[in-house]
Amino acid sequence: MPGLEDLYREIILDHYRNPRNRGELDSPPAHRVEGFNPLCGDEIVVYLDLDDERRITDIRIGGQGCSISQSSASMMSAAVKGHTVEEVGDLTRAFKAMMSIHESSLGGEAAEPVELPDVKLGDLEALRGVVKFPVRIKCATLAWNTLAQGIDEALA
Ligand code: ZN
Repeated sequence: MPGLEDLYREIILDHYRNPRNRGELDSPPAHRVEGFNPLCGDEIVVYLDLDDERRITDIRIGGQGCSISQSSASMMSAAVKGHTVEEVGDLTRAFKAMMSIHESSLGGEAAEPVELPDVKLGDLEALRGVVKFPVRIKCATLAWNTLAQGIDEALA
């Protein structure tokens, strides 16, 4: 019987090979922001459309890099599209908590207990295994940091 890790690997590869929301949006009016992870050479470009109710009405992803960075960006784009920036904030905290809980178990200082937002991570759960490879955590979180920067700029 295939284990959870096989299932997770399949989900990551599916998003890597068939990235969701790949492309560009006209900017302006869309906001365009770039993120870069020099440790691995990953690039993410996020195009973002927000409406007056602070809802992400459209998102596109560009860039290139390793399978973890690109699949995380694909999963993120599918997870945040149609949601408000507040909902996206909860999702981002839940995702980063999943990444950092394990970081602290690797001999670092104990992290503050985090009150986890009650959100479903869906496909993003597949990236849980990345925490076993601390150098890849920045690959997985790059898209999220880039999105957060884009939202900040869009609301500024
Ligand atoms: Zn990477």
